[in-house]
Amino acid sequence: MTANILLVEDEPAIQELLAFNVTQCGFRAIQATDVASATLEINRALPDLILLDWMLPDIPGVELARRLRADPRTRNVPIIMLTARSEERDKVRGLESGADDYITKPFSPRELMARIRAVLRRRMPQMSEETVSVAGLELSPVTHRVNAKGINLELGPTEFRILHFFMTHAERVYSRAQLLDHVWGDHVFVEERTVDVHIRRLRQALEPSGLDNLVQTVRGSGYRFSPD
Ligand code: CA
Repeated sequence: MTANILLVEDEPAIQELLAFNVTQCGFRAIQATDVASATLEINRALPDLILLDWMLPDIPGVELARRLRADPRTRNVPIIMLTARSEERDKVRGLESGADDYITKPFSPRELMARIRAVLRRRMPQMSEETVSVAGLELSPVTHRVNAKGINLELGPTEFRILHFFMTHAERVYSRAQLLDHVWGDHVFVEERTVDVHIRRLRQALEPSGLDNLVQTVRGSGYRFSPD
């Protein structure tokens, strides 16, 4: 699963450097030069991580971080603050605004990429390449294979992503809009009933192993993956 990384940076040279490195690492770069354009991108599709410059032409990056943390839709999106300010109290302010990590310019691209991977691993387990095993199911993001009690399952790419998300977020109820945000990355251009179609396909694929009841419908709310 390719992580979408939103780069919010107004200095063209740094923006290009970031986009180059992020793409080289196999991530998808989405570029914004101020808070207004970043907000448009976030409303269109929820990124998997935001690299956020502190000094932006319209509103400070810390203010955007605060807004994102206050909104239930964006509350859990990992944020790494980028800044030219190296003072300790700025670092504290950055982290207090809700950032997950903080890096000072000039930065080493290698270190930044290592931080990105660490934050993604911590915050978005479905972005990891590690094999996940839950309730008789074993899913490998590397080989794109799913084994259910010894049976290899044939899953479409969307069903695979839904199952990976569910297996790393068991027992929580997700609305259709939240699943669109997390699995499709987009809650505007895809209809909510699309989620139902793919859930049905996922259950059909799980049926031969008898594990289809792991995917539960929560009436009036959405879906839950429950190993119990
Ligand atoms: Ca700047």
